Amino acid sequence: MTTAVYPGSFDPVTLGHFDIIMRTSQTMDRVVIGVLNNQAKKPLFTVEERVEMLKSVTQPFSNVEIQCFDGLTIDFARKNHAQVIIRGLRAVTDFEYELQLAQTNRVIAPEIDTMFLATSLKYSYLSSSIVKEIASLGGEIGEFLHPQVAEKMLDKYARLKK
Ligand code: ADP
Repeated sequence: MTTAVYPGSFDPVTLGHFDIIMRTSQTMDRVVIGVLNNQAKKPLFTVEERVEMLKSVTQPFSNVEIQCFDGLTIDFARKNHAQVIIRGLRAVTDFEYELQLAQTNRVIAPEIDTMFLATSLKYSYLSSSIVKEIASLGGEIGEFLHPQVAEKMLDKYARLKK
């Protein structure tokens, strides 16, 4: 049985992340999405909120589960008996850092491989940060997020403005 972990901040999950999750769930037996609990990144959503949103959008996939973690990705992968770490690649700007990360992880944990999925063309520009910027300025975000996630984001900014 092949288990893959897909780690990230998911602050919040976008349609770009969702595309990677959907494709991974079709090729792997089990997919564990790891939501990084990293306060240093000053996330907009709490880790619990990020996990909830991921649970809601991945409901159709029976082989996908969501967990939160802190610390090293390889420790999270080992804990879940994963053979593979999945990362999405959008543009060359992602590449250098991702390559360095994958190579370092391979030195520390040679039994775990990183696999990169090239983002679908229609989401190659998309990031959680850009969606947050648009939402904070009152822009339309329906093209980038699942409806339930977009609603949570609008709620969050409405509350922050009060
Ligand atoms: P991190 O802080 O680890 O970069 P993110 O939530 O931003 O967390 O991203 C998690 C993973 O999803 C990364 O591998 C990232 O490259 C990938 N990713 C983010 N946005 C997209 C997208 N639009 N298409 C494909 N992959 C994406």
